[in-house]
Amino acid sequence: MTTHHPSELTLTAFAAGTLSEGASHVVAAHVVGCPHCREVTAMAEATGGALLDDMPPTEMAADALELALARIDRPAPHGTSAGLVFGRRRWLAPGVWITPGKIAARGREQLYRLDVPQGRRLPRHSHEGREFVAVLQGCFVDESGLYAVGDFGEADASDDHQPTVQGDTPCVCLIWTEGPLHMRDPIGRLLQPWLGI
Ligand SMILES: [Zn+2]
Repeated sequence: MTTHHPSELTLTAFAAGTLSEGASHVVAAHVVGCPHCREVTAMAEATGGALLDDMPPTEMAADALELALARIDRPAPHGTSAGLVFGRRRWLAPGVWITPGKIAARGREQLYRLDVPQGRRLPRHSHEGREFVAVLQGCFVDESGLYAVGDFGEADASDDHQPTVQGDTPCVCLIWTEGPLHMRDPIGRLLQPWLGI
């Protein structure tokens, strides 16, 4: 049972294709398996299309073709993480692995897959900007609830959390962060240079 979904704002941006490539991959990983969010996305797309249809025709700008071609290079909003290419897996701690996703990063954003063994508690942290998390396997719990396979976690700069892996399998997540993490405890601060996140 999926209980955590992307916010309406995030789904609308996803449908409009305005999320960054990294953020889109994480939203797509959730939407592909969530009938509710597929419906919301389809509705947002239909609404966007209808709005465009209703707009009075205007003279095209001289650079319209160039702009349109540049847009084609942007990630497709419906791209699922199946099309995502990963780099080399790096060891972080016993049983903890980070695998970067290859994206054309905007600013300091990062996309990675994180494997964490059962029972492991991650360092308490907050974020510069937003964090999207799609649970691909296992589950974790933090201050905002329990996140199982298919769930989507959305945090912003005001959130401060400490995820702990629950259940009897490792937890695998696809994570996008808009900016660096800020570790809230001494162990986390010591580890940060190695984490690179
Ligand atoms: Zn959903």
